[in-house]
Amino acid sequence: MPYWNIRNDLSIEDNIIYKGEQALIPQALREIIKQRLHAAHLGDNSMMRRVHTTVWWPGIQNEVKQLAEQCDVCQALKPRNQKETLILHDEGNLLWEKIGSDLFELDGKAYLVVVDYYSNFIEIEYLSTMTTAQVIKKLKAMFARWGRPSTFCSDCGPQFTSAEFHSFLYSWDITHKKSAPYHHQSNGKAEAAVKAIKSMLKKCEQSNQDPFKALLELRNTPRQDTNKSPAEMMLGRKLKTLLPTKTVRTKYDSEYHKQRQQKREAIRNTYNRGAKNLKPIAIGNPVFYRTPQHTWGPGKVMSNNDRNYKILGENGMTYTRNRIHIRPKFTPFNNDFEASILSTIPRTSDSEDKPPEATTGQRRSERLRARPQWMKDYVI
Ligand SMILES: [Zn+2]
Repeated sequence: MPYWNIRNDLSIEDNIIYKGEQALIPQALREIIKQRLHAAHLGDNSMMRRVHTTVWWPGIQNEVKQLAEQCDVCQALKPRNQKETLILHDEGNLLWEKIGSDLFELDGKAYLVVVDYYSNFIEIEYLSTMTTAQVIKKLKAMFARWGRPSTFCSDCGPQFTSAEFHSFLYSWDITHKKSAPYHHQSNGKAEAAVKAIKSMLKKCEQSNQDPFKALLELRNTPRQDTNKSPAEMMLGRKLKTLLPTKTVRTKYDSEYHKQRQQKREAIRNTYNRGAKNLKPIAIGNPVFYRTPQHTWGPGKVMSNNDRNYKILGENGMTYTRNRIHIRPKFTPFNNDFEASILSTIPRTSDSEDKPPEATTGQRRSERLRARPQWMKDYVI
C-alpha cells in the first residue's frame, strides 16, 4: 500500500528498485542507512538534502528528523538556542579563487582549516607543530591540488603575519586579506568552517566514528543556497560515499573511455611491431636462466605455463622465470637451440625458404636484426 501512490516513479536497475534517483531501501537495511546518513552528525535539513539524491522509503522524512533529536552526541553538543546574525561574505566568482584559513586546537592537536569561498569546500590538515613552516607546507600541497588562489584571508595569528609567510604568499602572487585584530567577522568564513569541523571532530570522537567518513559526508551534502554539495561544485561530480548512489555515466565519460581505449590499442600495436614472441622451450631441455646475481646460470626446464617457466638450477634450487630471462643452451641434440638460432638469422626479402608470415596481419619490420651478443662465439 505505501508504494501505490508512487508506483509510476519506480524503476529497476541492477536489481535495485529506484524511486527516481533514490534507491528504495528495504526495512532490514534502514537502520544501517540511517547510521551512515548521520555519520557527519548533521542536522535534519542537511540530511534531507542528502536523502533527495540517495535513498528513500515510506516515512523516511520523519525518521530522519528523529535521527538528530535522538542522537546523544548531537544533543550534548547542541549549540545554544540563539540565532546568530547573518554575515554576508563576498563569495568570489570562481572556484578556489578566494580562500579563508584558520588554525585551531582540539585535544592538544593542532589543525589547519582552509575553506573555498565559492564552493564551501573545506580542507583540513593536521599540523605536527604550529609553525609557519608547517602551515606553508600544507598550503602548498593544497595549491598543487586545487590551483593558486588570488586572495588568501586569515586573521592576524603569528603564523600568518610572519615575514616568512608574507614572502611565501608574495612568491605565489597571492593577495593577503587580514582581518583586523579583535574584529573577527572579516574572517568569518574560515571561522564558520572551523566551527563545523570542530563540532564534527568532537562528535566523531565521542561516538567513536571515523572522522574521514564524516568529512566525506560533509563535503557531499548539498548546500541550502545552491542545492549542490561542495564536492559537486569543486569536482563537477558527486563523490561515492557509503550511501547508495545511482551512477550516471555521462556522454562525456563514454566518449573519453572510447578515446582512451583507442590510444591504448595504438600503443600496443606500435610496441608489438618491434617485438616478437620468443619460441617456447620444451620441458626437460637445458637452458641458461637469469640468476639472482644477474648472470646466466645453467639449468633445466621443469614446467612452463605460458611465458612463465620453472627452472631447476644446477645448484639444486628452483627458479621461476619469464621466457625473456631464459635462453636455450647449446647441445648437439637440443632442437630448441637450433630453432632459436634460425629465428634470429636476418631474413632478406628474396630468401627462398621464407617462413610463413605470422597471421597477425601485421607487416614485419624489414630492419636487419644484429646477431645477439651471446652468439658471437658460434660459427653458423
Ligand atoms: Zn549526531
